[in-house]
Amino acid sequence: MTASSCKGCREEYKVTEEQIQRILASPAFAPERCVPDEIYAQRLELCRACPKLQGGTTCLACGCIIPVVAKLKERECPLPGQRKWNAYVEKTSAS
Ligand code: SF4
Repeated sequence: MTASSCKGCREEYKVTEEQIQRILASPAFAPERCVPDEIYAQRLELCRACPKLQGGTTCLACGCIIPVVAKLKERECPLPGQRKWNAYVEKTSAS
């Protein structure tokens, strides 16, 4: 097996924007499970600046598709001891 046979490195296995949008439209991404848009944008920005991001979509630390998992409240950056973003905890309105 050669390095070029790695599925993650081959063009035909690259995740397309259309595939991402299709996944995000599924019931698993109901609004109550998702972070607010500004948090999503912040997470994407942090990942874009991270050397672990491959091909603009895949985190090499966890193998996740970042534009998908960054939507979910309970997800967090997997880097041990250097987590770049955390699970989203909703702020309750203090009096
Ligand atoms: S989830 Fe963390 S380790 Fe993975 S690409 Fe984003 S910032 Fe980097």
